[in-house]
Amino acid sequence: MNFIKGVKAKIRNKKKMPSWYTERLIICNQCSENSKNKAKIPIKDKIRISHNFGKDACLICSCGINDLTSDPTVKCSAKSPKWDWIQVPNFDIKFNLENYSPSIGSLTREGKYYFYDFSSIKFKNDATAVLLFVSKKELDSFKVISSCGCTMPEFSRNEKGYLINVSYDTKIIGDFEKQVSISYLKENKEKEYLTFWIKGCVLDF
Ligand code: SF4
Repeated sequence: MNFIKGVKAKIRNKKKMPSWYTERLIICNQCSENSKNKAKIPIKDKIRISHNFGKDACLICSCGINDLTSDPTVKCSAKSPKWDWIQVPNFDIKFNLENYSPSIGSLTREGKYYFYDFSSIKFKNDATAVLLFVSKKELDSFKVISSCGCTMPEFSRNEKGYLINVSYDTKIIGDFEKQVSISYLKENKEKEYLTFWIKGCVLDF
C-alpha cells in the first residue's frame, strides 16, 4: 500500500500543482529536517523513513515530503510550523468522534484537538484504532485520508455513522503523531475538513 501511495505522489508531482505546493516544497527542500539535507542519518531515523520513496522525508514526522506538501489539510510538522494549512480543518466541538476500540488506546481531547493515543505498542503488533464518526445522515463525498503512508485509514457506514479504522505501521520504531482528516460536502456543497491525530510509541522489544 505504501508503494501505491508513493507512486501516486510521484505521478501527482508531475502534473501542474498549485503555487502553495511549490512554495511548501521549496521550504522543505531547504529545511535541515529534510532527510536529504543530512550528511549522516542516525540508524533509528533510517529505519523510520525507510518506507518512503528516495531520501526526501521529514525527520520530525517521518512522512514523505511529497505526501506532506501536496496535501492541503496538512501543516509543517515542526513545533513552530514553517508552512500552514491551506484548507484549515474544523476543530469544532460538534466534531463527534467516539472510541470503538477502548482496549487498545484512548480517545482524548486536548484543547480543541482530538488525539487517539495508543500509548506504548510492541514492534509489529497490531495498532488499529476503531472510531465512530457520528452522523445518522449519509454525507456526500465522505472520505478519510492521512498524510503519511504509514497510517492507513478505512471506513464503512453503519446506522449510527461512519466506522473508521486507522492502522499504524508498527514496523517503524519510535514516537509517532499522525494527522488524519475527514472530509465531506456540506449541504451548501462546500467541503468540510475535520482533523484528528493518532499518537503513541513503538517499542523495540
Ligand atoms: S515538514 Fe516542516 S519540518 Fe518537515 S521538512 Fe518540511 S519544513 Fe522541515
